[in-house]
Amino acid sequence: AKLMNPHKKVLLPDMKAGCSLSSSITGKDVRLLKEKYPGVPVVSYVNTSADVKAETDICCTSANAVKIVKSLGVKKVIFLPDDYLAKYVAAQTDIEIIAWKGTCVVHEQFNENEINQIRKDNPGIKIIAHPECPPDVINASDFAGSTTGMIKYVEDHQPKKVMMVTECSMSDNVKIDNPNVEFIRPCNLCPYMKKITLPKILDCLENETGEIIMDPETIEKARISVERMTAIGR
Ligand code: SF4
Repeated sequence: AKLMNPHKKVLLPDMKAGCSLSSSITGKDVRLLKEKYPGVPVVSYVNTSADVKAETDICCTSANAVKIVKSLGVKKVIFLPDDYLAKYVAAQTDIEIIAWKGTCVVHEQFNENEINQIRKDNPGIKIIAHPECPPDVINASDFAGSTTGMIKYVEDHQPKKVMMVTECSMSDNVKIDNPNVEFIRPCNLCPYMKKITLPKILDCLENETGEIIMDPETIEKARISVERMTAIGR
């Protein structure tokens, strides 16, 4: 938010509300990768720090990762930091992907045995997975797609019973607009997201605590990689 609105005051209710993907890599790590693979463009998932974005050619989301990588028209790409999302992109293209070993603490907990057991216990269930999941989980699922893609799948198909293999709170939100669908909840909660609570939001709003302060040069460099992504779109 601060990158795209540098002149606005941006507040965060808890400074520890980070992300395991974001903390897996630093700007210095990206500089070292660029030295090792000169001329290879860097694509970074939006769940990265401003320092990493400042070293990035173009950002992506889980929804547009494949499109962004293909848009570069090159044979080799450095894709950061989610190793599983990198594998998902590699499987959808014929582009060589140099990945980083970052993972999402929520999605890496799922495994193929768990998926198969849930399918056995719930005949007819549709299992849909986020591409941050390990490849064996994606292969054992009926569909893999971004957060938006998963929501659209539920809306379009209206399965009798579904499991969204992603952060647990997502199912609660999607259930509101799809009351006829039964959701089997895996209940892997994100410890970082859960740091944001209503009392902390209230404190933030009343006392304007937790202001994001960033170096203007980093903001300018990092914003370019986000703007390149938004120019391409979903
Ligand atoms: S669920 Fe949590 S750890 Fe995983 S990508 Fe989202 S914020 Fe990061």
